Amino acid sequence: MNLEEYKGVFVFAQQVDNKVSGIALELIGEGKRLAEKLSTEVTAVLVGSGVKDLADELAAYGADKVIVVDDPELKEYRTEPYAHALASVIDKYKPEILLVGATAIGRDLGPRVSARVHTGLTADCTSLEIGDFPINPIPGKEQKHNQLLMTRPAFGGNTIATIACPDFRPQMATVRPGVMQKLEKKEGAKAVVEEFNPGFTPDSKYVEIVEIVKNITDTVDIMDAKILVSGGRGVGSPENFKLLDDLAEAIGGTVSCSRAVVDAGWKSKDLQVGQTGKTVRPSVYFAIGISGAIQHLAGMEESDIIVAINKDETAPIFDVADYGVVGDLNKIVPMLTEQIKAAVANK
Ligand SMILES: Cc1cc2nc3c(=O)[nH]c(=O)nc-3n(C[C@H](O)[C@H](O)[C@H](O)COP(=O)(O)OP(=O)(O)OC[C@H]3O[C@@H](n4cnc5c(N)ncnc54)[C@H](O)[C@@H]3O)c2cc1C
Repeated sequence: MNLEEYKGVFVFAQQVDNKVSGIALELIGEGKRLAEKLSTEVTAVLVGSGVKDLADELAAYGADKVIVVDDPELKEYRTEPYAHALASVIDKYKPEILLVGATAIGRDLGPRVSARVHTGLTADCTSLEIGDFPINPIPGKEQKHNQLLMTRPAFGGNTIATIACPDFRPQMATVRPGVMQKLEKKEGAKAVVEEFNPGFTPDSKYVEIVEIVKNITDTVDIMDAKILVSGGRGVGSPENFKLLDDLAEAIGGTVSCSRAVVDAGWKSKDLQVGQTGKTVRPSVYFAIGISGAIQHLAGMEESDIIVAINKDETAPIFDVADYGVVGDLNKIVPMLTEQIKAAVANK
């Protein structure tokens, strides 16, 4: 592999139902920052059917170039045709860096593509930099410059790993949604648009989509909430979540939960925080009757302020909490709600 051949920062511009996903714009913003350090450009790869019109939106958020792979086979996301599209773009355009959102789609697509083009992928990154590798020079060993240094929490956030891919290209990363910044929208900005179609033949290996069920819900997406009032098994019953509803209402928050609560059937899966649920980073996260298992912490420890209420003073949630109250949530939560109501009324 001739590494010098590989140039430019590419981002997979995820779209669903021909609407650009927020993560695509976040990745363009981050891609632009990395591209400037490498004196190169950011290219968005737009894959779908009838999606060409979305190129202007990608340009408005900073894409210098848009490669459009448009084919009826790509109407809905399916692993095989999308992996074929993205791997073919890599083979033809040879990017130095390729960023993919760590969404359900991106987490499925990224590893398929990296295996196909035989390169390294770091999953679920929270920070990206351009720098030297090894980071600490090893005497007598070559230190490579301008590498993508990909940082991600590992072991449920107990350690932070910075990973590089010095010998293969592109350097691939999936990036956690909500971490990177979009650029300000520039109306009327134009990108160089190039269409590329590697050819798609319907294949028996392609998944056949029988039905798409949209999750109709009136709940706020917990990833967007500024204050989360999260309950665990300690809440005791679905009825007892009323205590958390009251607190959430008083403080303008949204209720979320641990997996134990979802497994017990008390709350729906879209409210689950954690490794197999959603990653949230609200300004305030109340962890009420939640023990703080690493799989739960992985989804919320980036919150600005964590308040834990738990009757077990040795619960691991207290290791990450900024404020903690040891005691029975059935007593503490109503008192807290009253205090907050009183404080709001006195304002
Ligand atoms: C592969 C894998 C993926 C997983 N993904 C997730 C995930 O995405 N999200 C997730 O949350 N979990 C996940 N889990 C499960 C995780 O390991 C824990 O089992 C789960 O988080 C426990 O939920 P909990 O804290 O609500 O319950 P528990 O661990 O049972 O904790 C309940 C807590 O409530 C306290 N309590 C009880 N009564 C009261 C009271 N009256 N007042 C105050 N405190 C009280 C107890 O002291 C205890 O600390 C995953 C597990 C695996 C193996």
